[in-house]
Amino acid sequence: MNNEHKTRVAFTIATITTAAIISIIFTVRRRTRRKQLESSSNSCYSHSEQKPQCTFKRVLADNSYTPFKHLSFNASGSNDEKGSNLHPFEAEITALLTNNHQPEIELGAKKLEMNDSYVWVDTEMQLKELVDVLSNERFFGVDTEQHSLRSFLGFTGLVQISTQQDDYLIDTIALHDSMEILRPVFANPSICKVFHGADNDVLWLQRDFHIYIVNLFDTSKACEVLSKPQKSLAYLLETYCGVTTNKLLQREDWRQRPLSAEMVQYARTDAHYLLYIANCLIIELKQLDNENTCSDDKFHFVLEASRRSNMICLQLFTKEIEASPGESAALSLYSRHQSNQGSPSISDETQFLYTVRQLCTWRDLMARIHDESLKYVLSDQAIVALASQLPASHSKIYNTIVQTDVNAETGLTSFIPSPSPVVCSHLSDISQLLANELVKHGDIYSVILQKCLGQKGSCKLNIFNYALLVNSNLRPTLSYKHSSLKNPRQHSRKASRNLFVKKFSCKSPVYHNCRIFANDGRLLCYCDRKKLEWYLSRDLAKLVDEEPPAIMLLFEPKGRPEDEGNDFYIQSKKNICVGCGEGNHYLRYRIIPSCYRIHFPEHLKSHRSHDIVLLCVDCHEAAHAAAEKYKRKVASEFGIPLYVRRVIHPGQETEKLNDEGGVSPLQLRSAALALLNHGPRMPLNRREELTEIVKRYYGGREISEEDLESALQVGMRPIERRRYEKKRGVSFKHSTGNAAAVPEGENHADCAPRVSNVDTLNVDTLNGSYANEETRSGDNRQDDSGEPSLISDLAVDKATSNGNTILIKTTDDDEDDHDEAVNVDESLNRKQQNVVSDLSDSRDEESLRDEDSTQAKHHSKLSLLGHGPHGKQVVDHLLKEYGEDGVREFCQRWRQVFVDALKPRFLPGGWDVKHRI
Ligand code: AMP
Ligand code: MN
Ligand code: ZN
Repeated sequence: MNNEHKTRVAFTIATITTAAIISIIFTVRRRTRRKQLESSSNSCYSHSEQKPQCTFKRVLADNSYTPFKHLSFNASGSNDEKGSNLHPFEAEITALLTNNHQPEIELGAKKLEMNDSYVWVDTEMQLKELVDVLSNERFFGVDTEQHSLRSFLGFTGLVQISTQQDDYLIDTIALHDSMEILRPVFANPSICKVFHGADNDVLWLQRDFHIYIVNLFDTSKACEVLSKPQKSLAYLLETYCGVTTNKLLQREDWRQRPLSAEMVQYARTDAHYLLYIANCLIIELKQLDNENTCSDDKFHFVLEASRRSNMICLQLFTKEIEASPGESAALSLYSRHQSNQGSPSISDETQFLYTVRQLCTWRDLMARIHDESLKYVLSDQAIVALASQLPASHSKIYNTIVQTDVNAETGLTSFIPSPSPVVCSHLSDISQLLANELVKHGDIYSVILQKCLGQKGSCKLNIFNYALLVNSNLRPTLSYKHSSLKNPRQHSRKASRNLFVKKFSCKSPVYHNCRIFANDGRLLCYCDRKKLEWYLSRDLAKLVDEEPPAIMLLFEPKGRPEDEGNDFYIQSKKNICVGCGEGNHYLRYRIIPSCYRIHFPEHLKSHRSHDIVLLCVDCHEAAHAAAEKYKRKVASEFGIPLYVRRVIHPGQETEKLNDEGGVSPLQLRSAALALLNHGPRMPLNRREELTEIVKRYYGGREISEEDLESALQVGMRPIERRRYEKKRGVSFKHSTGNAAAVPEGENHADCAPRVSNVDTLNVDTLNGSYANEETRSGDNRQDDSGEPSLISDLAVDKATSNGNTILIKTTDDDEDDHDEAVNVDESLNRKQQNVVSDLSDSRDEESLRDEDSTQAKHHSKLSLLGHGPHGKQVVDHLLKEYGEDGVREFCQRWRQVFVDALKPRFLPGGWDVKHRI
């Protein structure tokens, strides 16, 4: 045979073999699939599959809805597994931060290159030996790899540790239950742990092993401080070590044993060079510090890198617990689908959203029960396809999923079987769900839990899911209490949170960090662009810097911030939540509740920027809850009740009058407003509920339309009342009595039931949990002169401003965004109305918009401010008894409440509970 012939024969054989193998694979697959299909409801794949994490004897983070418990130490110093939610090493880390800890890395003569030998650690004995080695080191490099496809929360598959001498690869699957041996070296403040981009690693180590890091040097933070063009490890490896690494390997399946040579190489590379790189970066940081010694600029590069690194250690792992499982996924899926022009239009949008939400809830629970990731259970695109096509039979469901996933297939997802074994084992759930038959009574949560893990459950009980069953009383209840999932019209709390973030959080950065300099070059304050433009347009200043812009005043300001010995106002402020550092969304939070502050004497109202901070929605809610609680404490301490007590209408007697009987003005007004506007068209029980609230205020007697109207005015400040009265003629023409005269857009027959769904208690919830402090009517801010805010901010003394004497009150940042603030407050009121309608039903977008604009026109001026006269009475009392110092102390108390509630870690430097004017 000549060579050509040989090749051809070989090729033919290869082709035939391949074809045979492929056809065998397909037959086998088809058979298994069919088997899975047939046996779907009785047995689950989880019985036959042994996943590596099933060998773990103890897991710290299971898949239940209980919060993660952090390591805690009881008084005797031994571990107390009950756990707390404080950082167990907060004191040690804070000590490093406050003592200006300096990282020291001195490298010996060991060659940088990576040789062939490394230590694979997979027995407890070896791990103990490693601990002995590490205890004698002053620094070591660390990296971790995790697996997340076949696990709900993910788990650490490998920990790499490199000393100057050796590279260790720790098999964290084999040693999962022994890893705690490493806790002491990681928490030892005299051993520096070098990571690159430790944010995730820190959390993963907590989650899986209760390992907390004290004394961290993060090379990516050092890059940040050095303003390196890039801060990826790949960049550092290349520039400092001349090593290239293939970052695609981070996506490998790190459960694999043995690891491929490539993976070993990758994993070692991630840790091996860290010490060398850290050393180079520290030298550069030190150089900058040395160059900087003469200036009085306080920036210290080495310290800053170390500080930023150790801040990472303060992060705590938390399980994301939704009030309604799968809800956020459903919302994001739904909105993505809506914004996707290419997607087929759906005839019944309400049914579609409902099904998407049910499928997301189902997926969330199934992922927890089977300890799989969401995307492994069922892809997003498959959920959309199922919800829009509503296939009925098992095989149609099956095909819909396969086809959608094949179409969407991108290189990597092809590793995920479609449909997943989870779907195959539980096809009947999906078909019932799509037919609206899964949840007939009870909620989807208990139905599925019973089906899967109950006494005759189809699925395997394991260490990750048993707590779901045990703690089923701890399941998320909020939205299920009213079995909202049965009612596609109601949004869950999570959904309202998302809406809230979308609608209320600041759309653009609040602090622009533009600078204003005095004419001698001293920095006066930071402010927004509008303010700069105001000065520039009046030739009161000249531009001295472009990005971020800075101006220099052309006149001598009367006051300087440093006069007051306070450098708070010249700190650059970050657009992040001061509580947790969240940077994606934030809203203003007023530390001193407005119900008090608005009654302060004018000169004590300044320094607002100190007491207005940015918070993410979650911190906002926590801070607000603490403030509400403290308000109650203030109420009892001063004997000034928070709520309007049940008021006895002239000539009426009440039967029972107890302390619980109060109605907040807000609640009262929301209820009255809804009754006036939508009363006749409301479902009866809703109307009764609202009527009950108003009746309670009137001491239980029957109420008339006039009562409703006067209830609207309860707790209004005079200015609001005047406005309301001015508006009244217009606003309530529609709503008083004449049901036919509803605003346009509500008049369509098909809108009526939806409109009737308006749920004023949502207003209350919103106000109660978020909006209250934000809801201020703009009265004292709106000046008729139309002059911009800066006037009041920099208080131009009108009499003398021509003579260039301008008094600078650099103190009042709140007024910085004066005109913005007016808009914010007003639009907030308007938005609030939007949210009311948004939350209360899910009518289609168009009628929603109509409704919004009508409502906005009607009520935009109606402020829904907290507790009637309480605030004023408290402030009056303080002033009378203790004078202005009483008010100052009162402010300090509120700052303390805020600090105690949030333990904020990102407050601007100079912020102080004791802050005085
Ligand atoms: P690294 O230290 O960069 O190797 O990343 C650590 C772990 O983060 C990996 O084991 C992955 O589990 C995860 N990871 C990081 N980046 C990605 C990515 N782009 N895609 C998937 N997983 C990633
Ligand atoms: Mn890595
Ligand atoms: Zn199952």
